[in-house]
Amino acid sequence: MANYDVIIIGSGPGGYVCAIRCAQLGLKTACVEGRETLGGTCLNVGCIPSKALLHASHQLHEAEHNFAQMGLKGKSPSVDWAQMQSYKDDVIGQNTKGIEFLFKKNKVDWIKGWARIPEPGAVEVGEETHTAKHIIIASGSEPASIPGVEIDENTVVSSTGALSLPKVPKKLAVIGAGVIGLELGSVYARLGAEVTVLEYLDQITPGMDTDVARNFRTLLKKQGLEIVTGAAVQGVEALKTKAKVAYTLRKDDSEHQLDADVVLVATGRKPFTQGLGLDGLGVEMTKRGQIATDAHYKTSVEGIYAIGDVIEGPMLAHKAEDEGMALAEILAGQAGHVNYDVIPGVIYTHPEVASVGKTEDSLKEAGRAYKVGKFSFMGNGRAKANFAADGFVKILADVETDRILGAHIIGPAAGELIHEICVAMEFGAAAEDLARTCHAHPTYSEAVREAALACGDGPIHS
Ligand code: NAD
Repeated sequence: MANYDVIIIGSGPGGYVCAIRCAQLGLKTACVEGRETLGGTCLNVGCIPSKALLHASHQLHEAEHNFAQMGLKGKSPSVDWAQMQSYKDDVIGQNTKGIEFLFKKNKVDWIKGWARIPEPGAVEVGEETHTAKHIIIASGSEPASIPGVEIDENTVVSSTGALSLPKVPKKLAVIGAGVIGLELGSVYARLGAEVTVLEYLDQITPGMDTDVARNFRTLLKKQGLEIVTGAAVQGVEALKTKAKVAYTLRKDDSEHQLDADVVLVATGRKPFTQGLGLDGLGVEMTKRGQIATDAHYKTSVEGIYAIGDVIEGPMLAHKAEDEGMALAEILAGQAGHVNYDVIPGVIYTHPEVASVGKTEDSLKEAGRAYKVGKFSFMGNGRAKANFAADGFVKILADVETDRILGAHIIGPAAGELIHEICVAMEFGAAAEDLARTCHAHPTYSEAVREAALACGDGPIHS
């Protein structure tokens, strides 16, 4: 008899959510985690700490830029970096302890240490071997660098190092204008650093709706972020307290150099599978180093499953969580399922950027006839009152059926607003369904309704 029904390797959003749901569904469950605290990258060195720094630095921005106009006068606050770090650490602590509490409450055993799978059905942690009917790999991802750039977490840092720099750098160079580069670039720009972002492609945030990406770039520039697109980084020379970034501009192959106190490498992440013993087991991998799974998260080895950043799909905490819940349900004999067509993506800058479903580019490519309903936050009373009128909501709907196919928002609380559209899409709603739903006034949500109205007879406030 196995010790457990399920052993999950990794306690990030994929692993811990899966563990809790397995236990709730009556499966005897353990979760292996080698870090000192639960929660994985997201809670310890990712989503949660970065949101604390984004929040704190945004408050500073408000004080510096908007307070006086609202009649709030006085000296602007100054930055106590050590205190900001301890606030961030406190937020991490509250969240990781929260998972520990939830494990106890749901009777999930935390096996402390790093796991290896010596054979199907067995998980080795240190000196001990535990057995389980099902083993789920939820070991997440780690920062990926590029040739010529070595991360030392000192002057050349990944997102992990960037969250706890010893001080706010005077000059920060960021390689990669993706989610991490722009979120953390924003934090340091607000705290007074001179930030330059080097992006290989001609557009920031690849894959994002072009309209939104263009608007986003303009707004970031206004906030002081220098963004160089079409810049291929050749290498970084790290000195003791400084670094030199060499890059060429792709348009003319001209060579350039950027001096910085700190270089943040934000060029993507790669699956973390080290030490699991997958080679020995013959677990099939994809060309990109992810664990290959079928639609039910089964790997090529019977009894071993994988979810989250180690498998294909967007590396997003909530995608991993949904896979964790779906797999728990499947193992408990239910019909777990993830709808990959309705997974929102959010960038927590200011303004926030959020999207779900198809982009115009993908609809054009598929030859699908669509219409666009767009509404600017300039026409939203609440946004104007809050100095948050930059940006817009854009809804894409099928020309014939009016069914919502995608939505793209740049503006205040975009990361919250997107979910109204996600729910509508899950119900197969038409834009008219949103347009005919009464929305409280004055709210940012009215901009979503107006964009839906713009798919039909037209918005009222533009
Ligand atoms: P990313 O894939 O979002 O962006 C990487 C960027 O680096 C791309 O724009 C790419 O074109 C650029 N790049 C690659 N090589 C380059 C080079 N040699 N020179 C210049 N630019 C180069 O990756 P990320 O920002 O590192 O984030 C990693 C993962 O973590 C992503 O999957 C992201 O979705 C996830 N994440 C999500 C959130 C969120 O949802 N808010 C926050 C942080 C991280």
